[in-house]
Amino acid sequence: MTEIKNIYCVGRNYAAHAKELKNEVPTSPFLFSKPTHAIVEANGQSISLPGNKGSVHFETELIIRIGRPFEKGIKVDQLVDSMAIGIDFTLRDVQSELKKKGHPWLLAKGFRNSAVVSRFIPFPGVEELKMKTFSLHRNGEMAQQGTIENMIFDLQTIIDFAGENFGLGEGDIIFTGTPEGVAPVNDQDQLALAWNHQVLGECVIKLT
Ligand code: MG
Repeated sequence: MTEIKNIYCVGRNYAAHAKELKNEVPTSPFLFSKPTHAIVEANGQSISLPGNKGSVHFETELIIRIGRPFEKGIKVDQLVDSMAIGIDFTLRDVQSELKKKGHPWLLAKGFRNSAVVSRFIPFPGVEELKMKTFSLHRNGEMAQQGTIENMIFDLQTIIDFAGENFGLGEGDIIFTGTPEGVAPVNDQDQLALAWNHQVLGECVIKLT
């Protein structure tokens, strides 16, 4: 797998998902990050997740990888060199407690193996992406499906926001938010990550 530097994630970027968790729909992009230790590529193996901290939700997301340094005015198609489909795994019960206390989400979002990625493929360009879907299949059934057309903040807005506030450079990746349909995983679930109906990554969940 190509070296990954910073991991940024966009929260609440699809209105139907914000609503299913009873969150307000944001009026400006809302980002958080994960440690690089959270990264794991789904290449058919079993992936261990915490089984003793309440529900572990999948959030299926399009991931973009940055290929060169951000500069003001740069377009998505110039900045992004590849993409993958991933899962922003979330300890939902832990997150609810952290939210109540007003604490950061790191414990709920940054644990080992919480950033699952498929293999990366060359970025096809924003216009082609709009016509395709990404999806998660669990035990052979469709669990989530999304298209960037339904994003609240589009890819250009996200890279401008991240680039101006935090910096973006080669090897950084961005999880761009989940559509609706998030749910808890079960031990032994077989997950497949697909783009345009082509499977790019698979794994089996082991709750430990
Ligand atoms: Mg997410």
